[in-house]
Amino acid sequence: MSPKAYAFFKGEFVPLEEAKVSITTHALHYGTGSFEGIRGNWNAEKETLYIFRLREHYQRLSQGCRLLMLDIPYSVDDLCRITVELIERCGYTEDVYIRPLAYKSAEKVANLKLHELESDFCLMTMPFGDYLDTDALRCCTSTWRRPDDRSIPPGFKLTGIYINSILAKTEAVLAGFDEAILLNQEGNVAEGAGENLFAVMDGKVYTPPLGDSVLPGITRNTIMHLAKEEMELEVVEGHISRTDLYTADECFLTGTAAHLTPVVELDNRKIGDGKIGPISEALREMYFEIVVGNNPKYLHWCTPVVPNLVTT
Ligand code: PMP
Repeated sequence: MSPKAYAFFKGEFVPLEEAKVSITTHALHYGTGSFEGIRGNWNAEKETLYIFRLREHYQRLSQGCRLLMLDIPYSVDDLCRITVELIERCGYTEDVYIRPLAYKSAEKVANLKLHELESDFCLMTMPFGDYLDTDALRCCTSTWRRPDDRSIPPGFKLTGIYINSILAKTEAVLAGFDEAILLNQEGNVAEGAGENLFAVMDGKVYTPPLGDSVLPGITRNTIMHLAKEEMELEVVEGHISRTDLYTADECFLTGTAAHLTPVVELDNRKIGDGKIGPISEALREMYFEIVVGNNPKYLHWCTPVVPNLVTT
């Protein structure tokens, strides 16, 4: 925990340990929340923390709020401002994870509805290094399938849907793998438990379309842009089958927490030559320079925060 661990809770900045909810909170029982996972990347040379694509994260959170009828009194601009202020107050000089959550704060259980229940917003941050333990993932195809829009909409970060990711990840790790790859209800490849998926086949970069039950990942969008605009590669949003992955030249996962992490093995079969491939490597290098604010062309994706190191 940071020496100055604050949260934004019930409209105020408070010490993290004071940000507590009642056990009767609706969201605790029913997963009625819309959240985000955002990264702040510390650039030691510039003594600045760069928050990556902050606005886009809050736009996605707001869409989830509309779906779950979460009325919170903050605009996307307000949420960006609150986040910058919280980070400044905490005075981080290292990589951080930023976790906003809009949720049904009504202290009412036995209420299976979304309307007539109050909502609130809270925000916490924490130092955060690597999310995955390795940068050469051994994955398995999960027996769990990603839900589709007819059951729980997969295109939003709704708290309740993460039971699906957690079941898949737990199964994978307990079976000795690093991460799970989930298929959708039709049997096409969807994504990792907490990451989007890309495959390189014949020099083209493929990723499942949003209609294949994937989260519209902000890192996915970033990588698609870089592959097209910076590497002049053809990027295809198209169905991917499990067997396509077995025979792909390269495969990697993308996500705010996971960054760009190569998958070198799936279901005990090597992908390509079992090492990070050249396209994955080039994209990864470019991405890491951008997220720490070192590429002037993409500074518009980075919100700089200079830590307030004056102790109060
Ligand atoms: N899919 C799922 C299920 C996720 O939880 C995440 C992480 N937010 C992603 C994909 C990647 O999304 P992003 O790049 O926006 O972090």
